[in-house]
Amino acid sequence: MAFDLAGRLAAQQQAQRYRRHVCVQGPQGPLLQIDGREYLAFASNDYLGLASHPQVVEALQQGAGRWGVGGGSAHLVTGHMQPHEELAQALADWTGREAALLFGSGYQANLAVLTALLQAGDHLLHDRLNHASLLDGGRLSGARFQRYLHNDMTSLAGHLARCQGDTMIATDGVFSMDGDLAPLPDICTLAGQHGAWVMVDDAHGIGVLGESGAGTLEHYGLDARQVPVLMGTLGKALGTSGAFVAGSRELIESLIQFARPYIYTTSSSPAVACATLASVRLAREDNDRRAHLQELIRLFRHEAALLGLPLVDSPTAIQPLLVGDSGRALAMSQRLRELGIWVTAIRPPTVPEGGARLRITLTAGHSREQVEQLLTALEQVHGEFANV
Ligand SMILES: *Cc1c(COP(=O)(O)O)cnc(C)c1O
Repeated sequence: MAFDLAGRLAAQQQAQRYRRHVCVQGPQGPLLQIDGREYLAFASNDYLGLASHPQVVEALQQGAGRWGVGGGSAHLVTGHMQPHEELAQALADWTGREAALLFGSGYQANLAVLTALLQAGDHLLHDRLNHASLLDGGRLSGARFQRYLHNDMTSLAGHLARCQGDTMIATDGVFSMDGDLAPLPDICTLAGQHGAWVMVDDAHGIGVLGESGAGTLEHYGLDARQVPVLMGTLGKALGTSGAFVAGSRELIESLIQFARPYIYTTSSSPAVACATLASVRLAREDNDRRAHLQELIRLFRHEAALLGLPLVDSPTAIQPLLVGDSGRALAMSQRLRELGIWVTAIRPPTVPEGGARLRITLTAGHSREQVEQLLTALEQVHGEFANV
């Protein structure tokens, strides 16, 4: 019997879950060229507008000139170069931790942490809305895992009470499809009572939250004792690519020794490490970007509420509008495209069944006028679909 790929693809299409690439014909920014047309886009995770920032681009070019493009081999062979070392130290310093380790992507970092630390017989507790890479890392680790209700401390406490032995609680810091924050102080208190560890995936908090942009943990004032494992990504607010884990020297040494997704892969480009060093500097020192983004978030939420749009309770740059039905979410994003606005419809299984939405993201690169344009288009499309 051959694999029935045609049948599976047809079923995917039938379920309104078919995904397609679009090809972007220019750099990231508020205005995107797609298929020969220019759109005002609210769909990227480039929250600080650093993906095509001139200083970051220049750091990449100079980095390539000095260090070349390729890492050449794994970090533990001869692929660990000075820009990697400097970047890891800068990230440890920024997040207030003893050490940090770099990864090619956040997906890889989550697999690395969970498979290196957890073994069969250990327990892993997931928030129900955790990112797919945390779920996959948990599966691969062989640990027993359970999902507690989203941000529900009663549910978490109930699960914790039934865990015997080494236990990890893993949560997104900012939830990627909802934009809300995990109640980390409460999670840490419960973890402390049960001797469990907390791991935070701060893909959407790093650069955006906290006074110096060090993320959700800085926002709450939590340290490495309360949250032993911090994972952050470099491809969102920092505008480049890759990820890091920061924590105690012992944690980082353990990952170096035991994390197969760290050991058996080529190091990322040293030139990209140079670019990321520049974007870390910008993210850390340029508070105006964060302040402008906060102002856009306030503006959007205020006016969207006046228009009666179905907002979610999110204080961050991720401002989803709940639609429910996948076909309807797709049709609304299509209609917005006709109006020159690019917003992605997010459907199951990325979000729970019946939870399709328009995932609007704001960035420091947008202007107030552009957010007003978005609101005007949303008002129109919301009205058109009100009685459908
Ligand atoms: C994007 C994302 C990741 C994956 O990071 P990549 O660097 O894109 O692989 C992990 N966790 C969360 C919460 C994310 O949003």
